[in-house]
Amino acid sequence: MKKPLMLTNTLSGKKELFEPRNPNSVLMYVCGVTPYDEAHIGHGRCYVTFDVLFRLLQQLEYEVTYARNFTDVDDKLLNRAEKELGDRMRFGEVAQHYIDSFTDDMEKLNCMKPTVEPRVTQVIPDIIRFVQGLIDKGHAYAVDGDVYYAVRSFPDYGKLSRRTLDDLQVGARVEVNDKKHDPLDFALWKGEPAGSFWHSPWGYGRPGWHIECSAMASKFLGAHIDIHGGGMDLIFPHHENEIAQSEGLFGPRFARCWVHNAFVQVNKEKMSKSLNNFFTLKQVFEQFDPMVVRYYYLNHNYTNPLDFSFEGLQVAEKNYRRLCAFFDETCSADEFNQSPTASLMIDKLCDDLNGAALFGVLFEKWDELKNNEQERSAVKALFQDLMGLTLLPLPEQQVEITPEIQALLDAREKARQERDWKKSDELRDQLRQLGIEVQDRKA
Ligand SMILES: [Zn+2]
Repeated sequence: MKKPLMLTNTLSGKKELFEPRNPNSVLMYVCGVTPYDEAHIGHGRCYVTFDVLFRLLQQLEYEVTYARNFTDVDDKLLNRAEKELGDRMRFGEVAQHYIDSFTDDMEKLNCMKPTVEPRVTQVIPDIIRFVQGLIDKGHAYAVDGDVYYAVRSFPDYGKLSRRTLDDLQVGARVEVNDKKHDPLDFALWKGEPAGSFWHSPWGYGRPGWHIECSAMASKFLGAHIDIHGGGMDLIFPHHENEIAQSEGLFGPRFARCWVHNAFVQVNKEKMSKSLNNFFTLKQVFEQFDPMVVRYYYLNHNYTNPLDFSFEGLQVAEKNYRRLCAFFDETCSADEFNQSPTASLMIDKLCDDLNGAALFGVLFEKWDELKNNEQERSAVKALFQDLMGLTLLPLPEQQVEITPEIQALLDAREKARQERDWKKSDELRDQLRQLGIEVQDRKA
């Protein structure tokens, strides 16, 4: 079923018709996580959004190659390893733990596995070749074991975030680092003491963050791709720098369409650990079924900020229960390619992934579908295959979260963070007596 797909392209600032380079296939790269901590509700929103896009593109009969990376070497990881294991070179153990945890969260949210999930540590020779290529082309320079990208060598710098070099110059922090020729230049390779990390033409060291994505996208997808995605917070500098690197080496245009999902806010404020309004997916899953969380995301269009709240999730849960009851086990999930209702729903999704409008079609046609078994079966299949909602009835338990229960949940979270397993188990037992079953995460 080929239909035109409209997507908001950050590069043009407009909603436009999506046209891949090859009419039958799509190359999509989405920036993955740095596995140094648990994934939060902002990550959940991002990867559910791109999961729906992945499913939709396949429905539109494209052959899709979807790459999503793990940044498994990075300052944050090294700091965590230093702090928890007393040795920053044990960052690999920290990374593996959080990669497993992330994978578990994605499975719970019913996100399909990307075609490839490369890790930075597996592509170091490719990164070194990429950096050398940029030096050879005059876009980068080595100083004392570091390599920097010369931002002024790339005239298009700023085209994604619509900033000029002069704007940036004014805002640039005066850094202590005087190795750079220009304060705007950014690191491609970070020198480290001899014998540590990886050997390179510039001595021992490790890659900078931005170069990893350019190198992995070119290795697994090619020099020019169709869709590059990620959270809006990555537009500058990360994606701007990716463009400078990839187009610096291979020429324009690195990605045809840049798709960015908006922030998740809590009480109208950006989520942050310091504001204490920060929720991991696992914390939310302790109170809500992951399918309710997925349904909640899908009801909010990705281009708008999502004001996250537990009240909002409660409403979503109520509606999701209604949905599961409507498409109960007496309703089979059939092929939906011939269904007029499904077609109407896909049209909504093709309009910049308008999930809210898709659900709107269902509520408009609710009575009609009630009496039309065939259409109801088709719509059920669409929800399962395209929206990734399993529609399995939720357990009836669902106890109301009173302030007392919330206090116990918070205390248990604190105990877990402090690695006080005994206290954490005691609190779990107390919660159990109140009818709250908390999941045990791996330590
Ligand atoms: Zn990236």
